[in-house]
Amino acid sequence: MEEINITVELLVKECVYEGCGISYAVPKKWDGWRREDHKSFYCPNGHRHHYPGKTRVEKLMEQLGILRDDYEQCVAKLEEKDNRIKSLKRSRGQYKGRLEKLTAKPENEDASTP
Ligand SMILES: [Zn+2]
Repeated sequence: MEEINITVELLVKECVYEGCGISYAVPKKWDGWRREDHKSFYCPNGHRHHYPGKTRVEKLMEQLGILRDDYEQCVAKLEEKDNRIKSLKRSRGQYKGRLEKLTAKPENEDASTP
């Protein structure tokens, strides 16, 4: 008969349900999966549990979403300011053209004066 040695990391948990308090062990990987998927599990006495807290990945994804929103708002503001600058430059060009027309000497001004 051959002997096989296997190492399994178990996490000892204790049911916090009032009047229960039983200790039990679950594979560490399995505990990690329940933390990620928030699915329910039960203590040996049948009390339902789950991990409602956000995982590190969920928190990071949430922060990423906030940063993405901030970025999009900044881009929108920059585009708005860029459009405003372009509009002001067009207006400046139009006023400059009008000013040049108003201040220009008439071509035959010298010829008409006595
Ligand atoms: Zn229990």
